[in-house]
Amino acid sequence: GPFASRAQHRQRMEKSRFGHSWPLVEHLRACWYNLTYRTGIWRGKIRKPPMFHTTIAGSLPKPAWLAEPEKLWPRWKFSGAELEQAKRDAALVWLKEQESAGIDIVCDGEQFRGHFVHGFLEHIDGIDWDLKTPMGIRDNRYTVDVPTVTAPVSRPRPVHAEEVRFMRAHTRNALKFTIPGPMTICDTLADAHYGRRADMAMAFADVLNQEVRELEAAGADVIQFDEPAFNVFGKDVREWGIAALERAAAGLKCKTAVHICYGYGIEANIRWKESLGTEWRQYEEIFPLLNASRIDQVSLECAGSHVPISLIAALPDKDLLIGAVAVAPGRIETPAEVAATLREALKHADAGRIFPCTNCGMAPLPRALALAKMKVLAEGAFVMRKEIAA
Ligand code: ZN
Repeated sequence: GPFASRAQHRQRMEKSRFGHSWPLVEHLRACWYNLTYRTGIWRGKIRKPPMFHTTIAGSLPKPAWLAEPEKLWPRWKFSGAELEQAKRDAALVWLKEQESAGIDIVCDGEQFRGHFVHGFLEHIDGIDWDLKTPMGIRDNRYTVDVPTVTAPVSRPRPVHAEEVRFMRAHTRNALKFTIPGPMTICDTLADAHYGRRADMAMAFADVLNQEVRELEAAGADVIQFDEPAFNVFGKDVREWGIAALERAAAGLKCKTAVHICYGYGIEANIRWKESLGTEWRQYEEIFPLLNASRIDQVSLECAGSHVPISLIAALPDKDLLIGAVAVAPGRIETPAEVAATLREALKHADAGRIFPCTNCGMAPLPRALALAKMKVLAEGAFVMRKEIAA
């Protein structure tokens, strides 16, 4: 389940080689919390069944004191050791906000990185950051000056392990860590070395695999690969995308997830979505392939989208992270709307496989809006638990 007993938590912390013990008062608080949960006395004396555990897709807005707000490539407001401390502080704020809001499977909100792809790639050798190539990414949806791969890629040292250890030490909830998938990496970089995208993807899969094995050892319960490019290049997904993803996840014993969305709620994506017609069936081609893969969970965009939710029937063996709040700037859903989306999903999957989630990352949103959406997500999940328990 998403909540560890104290013993389990200690074990996880020890596993992450973080020698740290809790003050007595914290210990007693945790025991009480655990006891009330496990005996089912939770708000209105309702047992929390092992279903509708909430999580978010990944990114959250950077606080305005840390980086420029509402930007996808924000500039940091600190540097050096000050920046490192400020990132930890921001991650801690969002961790506690997630716990308070009722998010069961928590993450760092990607507070440690500037951008969800480049934040990892900055630490990889073989990429020339000064050689910028204009590229129409996500099949020419928008043009970005991307860095260029000019030599074999390699990872000279661990990238995110310290961040996972930090998060592990501060929460007893299940901990997720998000990382870009090989296909999406290859769609955010120009290639002047490998020649074939599939070859470059496999090279990145090996680099990712070294990284995620360490993240698991550092205490991550879920490793999620972000693959928005899966929705755009159906043929490549079939030919090498799934293989690259499985190679990146090879050997992991923790839960593995893949997030496939229709992109952040930014202008270019909103326009693209308007061009997709009344029914979005991009998932239809890739779901059977994913269902046959070794990945445990699939994160999907379902709220306010034109994805026919019946498509999830093609994922009978997977956990489903059902996007039940949209990430475009605008109104906040009501708990009833969140519950309605989950109820639709329930027609095609057992409750135990449904994880209420956001459609995508919330990095470009105003901070207060992201927080409000997180809360409404948890409230909608609560409505459904109550409904199922009744
Ligand atoms: Zn997304």
